[in-house]
Amino acid sequence: MDNIKTAEILSVGYELLLGDIVNTDAAFLCRRLASLGISVSRQHTVGDDSADLVDALHSALRRAPLVIMSGGLGPTFDDLTKETVAAAFCRKMYLDEPSLEKITRYFAARGTEMTQNNVKQAMMPEGAVIFENDYGTAPALAIEGNIDGVEGERIVIMLPGPPRELEPIFNERVMPYLAAKTGEIMVSSNINILGMGESAVEEILRELMQSSKNPTIAPYCGHGEVRLRVTARAENESKARGLCDEMIAKIKQTAVAPYIYDIDSPSIEDTAVRRLRERGMTVGCAESCTGGLVAKRLTDIAGCSDVFMGGCVTYSNESKIKLLGVDPDTLAKYGAVSEPVAAQMARGVRERLGTDVGISTTGIAGPGGGTPEKPVGTVWIAISTTEGEKTRLLRLSSMRERSYLRTLAANEAIAQIFNIK
Ligand code: ATP
Repeated sequence: MDNIKTAEILSVGYELLLGDIVNTDAAFLCRRLASLGISVSRQHTVGDDSADLVDALHSALRRAPLVIMSGGLGPTFDDLTKETVAAAFCRKMYLDEPSLEKITRYFAARGTEMTQNNVKQAMMPEGAVIFENDYGTAPALAIEGNIDGVEGERIVIMLPGPPRELEPIFNERVMPYLAAKTGEIMVSSNINILGMGESAVEEILRELMQSSKNPTIAPYCGHGEVRLRVTARAENESKARGLCDEMIAKIKQTAVAPYIYDIDSPSIEDTAVRRLRERGMTVGCAESCTGGLVAKRLTDIAGCSDVFMGGCVTYSNESKIKLLGVDPDTLAKYGAVSEPVAAQMARGVRERLGTDVGISTTGIAGPGGGTPEKPVGTVWIAISTTEGEKTRLLRLSSMRERSYLRTLAANEAIAQIFNIK
């Protein structure tokens, strides 16, 4: 198909018409299509009603070479998207075995029973291009071809409704598919940022983000960190990679730079384990408020036993004294959530495990337990090496829930490893 310049979006679901949910999928799709040089000329929203869906689909296909649909790929009888599109292109439905296997594995991995109607999600129109869904059960798909009464080839792309599925599938699978249709190659990189919030990052980079159409820069946040996804298009991979690298270099010259901890890292702990390995160093951890989260996250990295030696969850004062050798007088004088206790915990675990590095956390994760001097969200973290101990006070927002505060504390505790020389 020749260069696609325009598209229409067709969103399906009664919840959208009832106002129960906001159509964030459509906004996301418009932004991503614009970055490919495809402009959206119309948006349609219909309920889960066959006649309305047929009507909207045919009307969109008469005008636009590309129609992107969201929703209605679920397992129930009112999920009609694939069947309606198949009928428009005169295609029969068949059972796609690889999709069925993937759906079966998805349920098995979660230990939940797969019901018979989930098989419907593996039914595909003949000739469909299937985009695997690593984030849910319904694969996304595309149909290319001609339909009666319309001149020129048409493409319909069907995506699952939930944004947590639609967005990554679109970024990872559909964008390269569309870029290939427009005769271009796409390359992306993620800039990993810690210690600066999404809005602060956006504020600093707003002008660059708005003015740069290729590469595009899009921020995503999650688990207390921000990722900037830089995506470049060009006629070949090395040119696209070059554009991407140039933009990363530019961003590294802004005020965001001190907060960039890696490029294309899957997680903070992945980078930390890699840095320790590069330096041939080992680590142990002593945790109070994070209750083992630091150890859990480090051991999430397969093969980390060459750098991670072990950890202690020392929640009570007694355990801090007995297991880590924290001085009882220090505890009595400054309290468990204090700088000297954090330092002694980090040194204690390092000396007892014989590691090069010890890291510690002690804080108030809430919701109770805060005082005016030490409100919920007060966390001391420390790192100990043969050169001594370094400590840091985190003042996390007391408005956040306990599990989130613990995640943020673990993020910062693990990130101390980045500063080891
Ligand atoms: P599922 O298999 O999960 O049912 P689906 O493809 O059939 O997926 P829908 O049933 O239409 O999708 O929607 C599932 C959920 O996804 C909705 O309840 C809503 O929370 C979210 N969702 C659907 N469409 C949109 C949209 N356009 N914008 C934002 N969220 C949406």
